[in-house]
Amino acid sequence: KQRLLEVKDLKVSFHTYAGEVQAVRGVSFHLDKGEILAIVGESGCGKSVTAQTIMRLIPSPPGKIKSGSILFNESLDISKLSDKQMEKIRGKEMGMIFQDPMTSLNPTMQVGSQITEGLMKHQGLNKKEAMARAVEMLSLVGIANPESRVKQYPHEFSGGMRQRVMIALALACSPKLLIADEPTTALDVTIQAQIIKLMKMLSDKTHASIILITHDLGLVADMAQRVIVMYAGKVVEQGTVDDIFYNSKHPYTWGLLRSVPRLDKDAKEELVPIPGSPPDLFAPPVGCAFAARCPYAMGICTEIDPEHSIVSGQHSAACWLLHPDAPKVTRPVEVGG
Ligand code: SF4
Ligand code: MG
Repeated sequence: KQRLLEVKDLKVSFHTYAGEVQAVRGVSFHLDKGEILAIVGESGCGKSVTAQTIMRLIPSPPGKIKSGSILFNESLDISKLSDKQMEKIRGKEMGMIFQDPMTSLNPTMQVGSQITEGLMKHQGLNKKEAMARAVEMLSLVGIANPESRVKQYPHEFSGGMRQRVMIALALACSPKLLIADEPTTALDVTIQAQIIKLMKMLSDKTHASIILITHDLGLVADMAQRVIVMYAGKVVEQGTVDDIFYNSKHPYTWGLLRSVPRLDKDAKEELVPIPGSPPDLFAPPVGCAFAARCPYAMGICTEIDPEHSIVSGQHSAACWLLHPDAPKVTRPVEVGG
């Protein structure tokens, strides 16, 4: 397998009037070529900030990469590039889709021109070639009558169709990396399913790697191969979809799994939200950041932050329960798959 992305010990802070918010506190992970990786966690856990940092979309100031590296294609350290160098890579090598398509679509421009702009800039196509490709892209994402639709403006599309236009725009230059941040949250369930199918089909077709950021674990099971669970700016567990759904080891992951509806189970079954709230990232706690909410917390948990322990293969979790001397705790049955 070839690596597309290798993030090492990434730390990102925001400087605000009230102090420094440590949004990402030493995140490491990798992404292979063609792989779909999900990043999950409650809002504010640093998943969007991590993604935006990879795209270098963090406004600086107030944002700042404090340390770490983001190796792209085994050679280029994204964290060290100038804004100008980055502009050449973004849109060409990387595409991003957001919850709200209007973040990336220009309301005053025909959608065809928005797609051709990048193609002319990054791929050196002339106007005619670029327009032919724009039509092809709209048709690929399932928009009927693409020849006339290219001349329309974003407001002339429905929510789901706008999402498709954004995907067409993000994928027009055949990026190696697509980052999708809550791509279907604003859509109704049927359209969600269509968009997911579409993204999967496109990643198969173009061999693009995808980072899917979501709080929707159902979506993760449908789409991803590997999962990273983030809490309070750190990765607390990572593994394959099966590792996370059927053999997770971190109490926070158990909490997340219990707090989502399960399609295969009786809908009447109670969902249990995780009690409490994440810690203040102005002053992250000493020790494990989950300790205040963790039913299994021990003395050491509030003293020393646990390192990742390997569970098996690519599966690891940062929890003192994995220490050989820790009391044996079995995963609650209601989490099991
Ligand atoms: Fe709970 Fe301790 Fe594990 Fe943190 S390290 S998740 S507090 S048991
Ligand atoms: Mg977010």
